[in-house]
Amino acid sequence: GSNLYKEALNSSGFQVTTYARPHDLLITRGQGSKLFDDLHNKSYVDFTAGIAVTSLGHSNEKVSQILCDQSKKLIHSSNLYYNAECLELSKKIVEKTKSLGGQHDCSKVFLCSTGTEANEAALKFAKKHGSLLGPKKHGIIAFENSFHGRTMGALSVTSNPKYRTPFGDLVPGTTFMNIHDELNVFSDFVKANKDTIAGLIVEPVQGEGGVFPVPTEKLAGLKKICSDNDVVVIHDEIQCGMGRTGKLWAHAYLPKEAHPDIFTSAKALGNGFPIAATMVNEKINNALKVGDHGTTYGGNPLGGAIGSYVMDTIGDEAFLQKVITKGQKFEERLQEIRARYPQHITDLRGRGLMIGLEFAEAPKDLISKCKDLGLLVITAGKSTVRFVPPLTISDSEIEEGLDIFEKAVNEV
Ligand code: PLP
Repeated sequence: GSNLYKEALNSSGFQVTTYARPHDLLITRGQGSKLFDDLHNKSYVDFTAGIAVTSLGHSNEKVSQILCDQSKKLIHSSNLYYNAECLELSKKIVEKTKSLGGQHDCSKVFLCSTGTEANEAALKFAKKHGSLLGPKKHGIIAFENSFHGRTMGALSVTSNPKYRTPFGDLVPGTTFMNIHDELNVFSDFVKANKDTIAGLIVEPVQGEGGVFPVPTEKLAGLKKICSDNDVVVIHDEIQCGMGRTGKLWAHAYLPKEAHPDIFTSAKALGNGFPIAATMVNEKINNALKVGDHGTTYGGNPLGGAIGSYVMDTIGDEAFLQKVITKGQKFEERLQEIRARYPQHITDLRGRGLMIGLEFAEAPKDLISKCKDLGLLVITAGKSTVRFVPPLTISDSEIEEGLDIFEKAVNEV
C-alpha cells in the first residue's frame, strides 16, 4: 500500500484525477468515531463519517458480522427473483417511516446502490407519472445551491456550474428556482407551466450547498402548490435522512400535508455498504409498469441484510432522542466558540448532528490545521465547515474533537 500511496501522491498512480485530496492521508482503519492512518502512525477524531455515511461508526461489529454471515449465505441473485433480505428491508423502511412520523403514504420501495441512482429513479418515476397526465409533462423544478448526484439525470438537477458546465447538454427540462423566493413566485411559475412540469426535487436540509435547513413553511407551501397542479414532490434525504437530524427522516419535522410523494435515501442506510432506496406513494407506483426501471445490483441480499440492521438501530425512538441531545451539546459548544471568534464565524445552522458553521472566508487553512491536530472535518458551500459525525459518537469524543477544532480556529 505505501508504494502505491507514494505514486498517487506524485500523480503517477493509477486513479483518474477527479478528487481533490489536499490531505496526505492513507486511511487504513476505522473504529467508532476514529480513523487511523497507520502509515503515518496518526489517529483522528472523525467528524465526517465518510460524508454522513458511517452513522453507526466505523467497523461496527454487528455490521461486519452481518456482512460475513450473509456473504456466506447469498451475495447476489438479481431482481429476477425475490430475496428475503430485501423484502424485509423494504417492509422495515415502510413500517418505521410510518411509526416514526414520516410519510405514511409512501408504501412502496425501489432499492438500488447509490444516492445518485436513487434520485435517477425518483426523477424517472415523477416523469413517468407526468407522462400519463400530458405529453409534455416531463420538466423538473430544482433549486439553486442543490446537490443531487453526479450521473447525468441527477446532475441535471444539481445547480453548481462547476459540476455541470464541462458536460454540455444535460437532461433538458430543468428549471432552477431560488428557495428563498416568496411562495407566490413558485405558485405563478407552477400554474403557468403546469402542462410541462412533472416534479420538484428538494433537499429538506441542503447539505453540500452549505447546510441550510429549508424553513417548514416553505416546504409546506411548495407541497401545496405542487399538489394543486399535479406536480410530484421529491425530497432528497440522502444526506439529511436516516436519523441525521434527530428524526428518522427530515420530512418528519413537517406537518403531514407537507410530506413528499417520493423520497430518497442512501449514505447511512448501509453504514458504508452501497445500498440506496427510493420510496413512493401509491399514486406514483400506479404510474409504473414492469420494465420501466431496473438495476442488476439494486436490492441485493448483502445490502438488504445490512440495511435492515441499520434501519432497526437508527429507527428507534431512544436512539433518535440521543441524536437530538448530542446535537444540542455539539451546537452549544459551537455557539461558545462562535461567540469567542465573532469576526471569523458568522452563522451557525443545522439540525441534530448535521451542523454548519459559516466563516467569513473559505476555511481551507482551518480544515488543514484541524487535520494536523488530529481532527477530520469537511466543508460545504463556499465557506461553511460541516459537522456530520457518526450518530453514535460519544460525549467525550465530541469534546475531544471540538477542543481540537477550537485550538485550530485559534491558531489559523
Ligand atoms: N443527494 C444528496 C443530498 C447528497 O448529499 C449526495 C451525496 O453527497 C447525493 C445525492 C449523491 O449520492 P451518491 O454520492 O451516493 O451518488
